Amino acid sequence: MIIAVDGPVAAGKGTLARRIADKYGFKYLDTGALYRAVGLSLLQKGQDPNAEDLAVEAARNVADISLADPELRLEHVGNAASIVAANQGVRAALLDYQREVAEHSPGAVLDGRDIGTVVCPAAEVKLFVTASAEVRALRRFDELTAKGEDVKLAQVLSDLKERDARDQGRASAPLAKAEDAHLLDTTKLDIEAALDAAYEIIEKHLPTKT
Ligand code: C5P
Repeated sequence: MIIAVDGPVAAGKGTLARRIADKYGFKYLDTGALYRAVGLSLLQKGQDPNAEDLAVEAARNVADISLADPELRLEHVGNAASIVAANQGVRAALLDYQREVAEHSPGAVLDGRDIGTVVCPAAEVKLFVTASAEVRALRRFDELTAKGEDVKLAQVLSDLKERDARDQGRASAPLAKAEDAHLLDTTKLDIEAALDAAYEIIEKHLPTKT
């Protein structure tokens, strides 16, 4: 069983997807970490994320980077990720790995931007998790300041809007709700309420036990 969780930055999809995977004993993949790993690999070598051939090469070697590296979570790495993510060659190089993980038995939860539309269009459950830009910026701001990053809320909001525009506007696999995805707006929901809403949707699709 495949559960696709897509949505814009800081909508809460990572926490939701991880908790859903834990509950059902499914494999979890944060596909944003793959794009972050490509961005980080370029930055660490002093290379420009806009350099297309170098980015594709980094994507082919993404297995060499630990997806648990805390540097992946830094704000500037997220911005580099969003630049390499617009590169069609990078997306193609990361596709097989994502689909392999999706085949994990008894199930997998993948979160990202294009899981329900491109990576796993046949996923049994598709959630599109979103929230207003202001609420998402505030969540991201709280997260970053808790980690000791020195950021301004206005800057976080403008970076987030820029990232949304880049993710939605790119030609290749843009961020979009799949037609058959369930919309989950978390603007007014805390994580537990959002999870309850997600479980309600998922339970309807679980194979019935005999
Ligand atoms: O989700 P996260 O913020 O870690 O993703 C970083 C960037 O990677 C996103 O802004 C997006 O550009 C890109 N991404 C993508 N497709 C995915 C997951 C992430 O394009 N499936």
